[in-house]
Amino acid sequence: MTDQEKENLTINVRNEEIEEFIDTYLKENTPQHLNQLVVKLRTSRILVPASLNEEKKPVPCLLPGPENTFYFPLYTSKEHIPAKPRSELVLNLPFLAANHMVEQHIDQIDGIAINPFTQNLVFKRALIEQIAETNQETNRNMTDGMQHTVVCNCCGQPIPVYPSPEAAECMEVTKKWGYFSGKDGETHRFHICESCYDAWIATFAIAPEVTEDTELV
Ligand SMILES: [Zn+2]
Repeated sequence: MTDQEKENLTINVRNEEIEEFIDTYLKENTPQHLNQLVVKLRTSRILVPASLNEEKKPVPCLLPGPENTFYFPLYTSKEHIPAKPRSELVLNLPFLAANHMVEQHIDQIDGIAINPFTQNLVFKRALIEQIAETNQETNRNMTDGMQHTVVCNCCGQPIPVYPSPEAAECMEVTKKWGYFSGKDGETHRFHICESCYDAWIATFAIAPEVTEDTELV
């Protein structure tokens, strides 16, 4: 894969339907219009400009609002991101991951601004918390009621797994961190669906080793 292709993969997010839903809601501020927008956002990926901190970890760039407020900007496509000032990098995230980040820092962030320079729809604290809460509930219900489904931690979509009829494969990672890590004694576990896996490994500096099973079953 060329560098150009890699960049496209990261930043080529299109959300035309969401942009329409935002326009509709901005024109006509009804709970129904907000709901159709939030439902669609839940399963979508968005873009967040970020810079690298001293530890070289990406940190989203917050937008200052009036009276010492700070908003977490997110964009439905690169066309909505202003050309200047150019951010160091642009993160491609599931909307729910961005919502979760904001919810974790709700005392420092006043809200989410979607396409702040073009559409500028603001989600306030109460809505952000409500979206986060519903998401946890959905995850709980899925583990209780749908034994054959796991949720992809990357995109938030359910993945039907064995022995369900529409079974798909996914990657399960369990890592018990040891003494020499910064997470001594913690066990981390997550699932990644096949399309998120493909997108993830495309960002690796060195591709995974692939061997083919030559035995015929
Ligand atoms: Zn996924």
